[in-house]
Amino acid sequence: MSILVFAESADGSIKKSSLEAISYALEMGGDVTALALGTIDASEMEALGKNGAQKVLHVEDERLNQGHIAAYATAIAQAMDHTGANILVLAKSSLSDIVAAKVAIKNGAGIATNVSELPDTSNGFTVKRSIYTGKAFANVSLTTDKKILGIKKNVVALKEDGGQATVEKFDVTFDDADFGAQITGSEVAEGDVLLTEAEIVVSGGRGLKGPENWGMIEELAKELGAATGCSKPVSDIGWRPHHEHVGQTGVKVSPNLYIAVGISGAIQHLAGVNSSKVLVAINKDPEAPFFKAADYGIVGDAFEVVPKLIEAVKKLK
Ligand SMILES: Cc1cc2nc3c(=O)[nH]c(=O)nc-3n(C[C@H](O)[C@H](O)[C@H](O)COP(=O)(O)OP(=O)(O)OC[C@H]3O[C@@H](n4cnc5c(N)ncnc54)[C@H](O)[C@@H]3O)c2cc1C
Repeated sequence: MSILVFAESADGSIKKSSLEAISYALEMGGDVTALALGTIDASEMEALGKNGAQKVLHVEDERLNQGHIAAYATAIAQAMDHTGANILVLAKSSLSDIVAAKVAIKNGAGIATNVSELPDTSNGFTVKRSIYTGKAFANVSLTTDKKILGIKKNVVALKEDGGQATVEKFDVTFDDADFGAQITGSEVAEGDVLLTEAEIVVSGGRGLKGPENWGMIEELAKELGAATGCSKPVSDIGWRPHHEHVGQTGVKVSPNLYIAVGISGAIQHLAGVNSSKVLVAINKDPEAPFFKAADYGIVGDAFEVVPKLIEAVKKLK
């Protein structure tokens, strides 16, 4: 089985979620080729090999450095033909979802996005997709020859014990329409770490009593290199900006670590955090629903616990 993985990059660096996509492809078995587009740092190319790609196809076209979605789809479709890959794996992102759909049309492939497990090949080819903001799953059977899987973050652990991939220059035939629309830039809403990309999120709820008490949340986040988030009521009241609102009606996050401070753990909030690897709840009410979902919990007053946590993190550093 030959598998192609789209190695999405930003500013010359391959996204960690794309490295996870390579580890996912490796666990499926078969030969894994990564496709890198545009200008990529040499060390990043090495990372593709370390994470399990046997070969890297590199399209060194500078026009691909920035969001030409149609051109990405053309490059991927041609790379699938070139390698004979019948499976394409992409890490879920706002860009890759659209790219995957375009490749599916070009190559007549069956597609499943938001995939949350390795495929079951015991009887055909079935994948589990997360639906309704993670509250349910759908089993999807793909019967086409070519298949496209858009995988969620944290579905498999990163494998970093691979070898060195051979890097091959790959020429793609584009036409003008491939460059007809372009993402010209993106702006991080606020703060140093983008919430949706963050490895760690420190989030605060109504238990923090008011916006004047967010200093300790920001300080803990800064010490951990984390993004800050909040519950819906907190942004509704205007204590925090709306782009920090996490949950069913807000941002969905998938960090390695989500720390919820003074958040009750209502089902609508949990819907936005249940793809996190490790959930930690800090709440003074031992009956708070968050403790049922959390991997670790601290029953205590946030105003005592958080300053101690900050001190402990500083000492560790
Ligand atoms: C259709 C719909 C969509 C919704 N979408 C979302 C959504 O996307 N995201 C979201 O977050 N909510 C959403 N909600 C709201 C959700 O139901 C909850 O009301 C909300 O999440 C509660 O926010 P909270 O936990 O900050 O506040 P509260 O429910 O008031 O909980 C505060 C918590 O802080 C604890 N606490 C108090 N003082 C302290 C202290 N000193 N130290 C430690 N802990 C303390 C309390 O024990 C309590 O558990 C939605 C609701 C509806 C109906």
